[in-house]
Amino acid sequence: MIIFQGVTKTYKGSQGEVSAIREISFKIDPREFVSLVGKSGAGKSTIIKLLTGEEKPTKGRIIFGSYDVTKQEQDELYRMRRHIGTVFQDFKLLPEKTAYENIAFALEIAGKPQTEIDELVPRALDIVGLGRQAYNFPREMSGGEKQRVAIARAMINNPDVIIADEPTGNLDPINTAEIINLLLKINELGTTIILATHNKDIINSLKRRVISLENGEIIRDEEKGKYILF
Ligand code: ADP
Repeated sequence: MIIFQGVTKTYKGSQGEVSAIREISFKIDPREFVSLVGKSGAGKSTIIKLLTGEEKPTKGRIIFGSYDVTKQEQDELYRMRRHIGTVFQDFKLLPEKTAYENIAFALEIAGKPQTEIDELVPRALDIVGLGRQAYNFPREMSGGEKQRVAIARAMINNPDVIIADEPTGNLDPINTAEIINLLLKINELGTTIILATHNKDIINSLKRRVISLENGEIIRDEEKGKYILF
């Protein structure tokens, strides 16, 4: 369960204070697939950064499972983040590592033994449909393939939640559909998905819960929502 309770985040920038989100409240149940939508600057990334503890709220409370995110010390935050997988628009793969090594690295950091790595990485590559590209470097892969490696890496430690921040922003419509289908498949296997996007075709085809943001406030929160903002 994820809970945002009256959360406000104000950044102090060179131009003075910017209220990125104001009095945001919502709950996300385990195994939900939730899209966060809104124009650039609406507050999507701020919500994600607050959820992972990368930023602290100015006001309000954030709960992630058994963790009170707002009160965590740094080492507790690291522990909490093991339950979260992240996927970004620009993939964030390590350029000098192959697809296999990029995924394996996430297990190495988590201290998993080699035997487990040898078993889990090929299975993850299979799930994302990249068995044959295992030994390709990122520069040898298309955008869609790179994003599938990033998704395999995000799911390899079996997180409770995958946060995908504009994961299809650099992809064509065919690859976009494939990445969304992959996220749906991972959701069906039991992982909560939080998808931040401003792609209305995705939202309208998903027919899942949509939280719509405008100027840092929730203007709509609908089961099986549609993207009717703009
Ligand atoms: P989105 O992800 O929906 O594009 P953001 O959460 O990135 O929106 O931004 C929300 C608002 O907060 C914007 O007005 C943005 O300029 C501002 N903002 C975000 N990060 C910072 C920061 N580090 N310093 C100052 N202002 C920020």
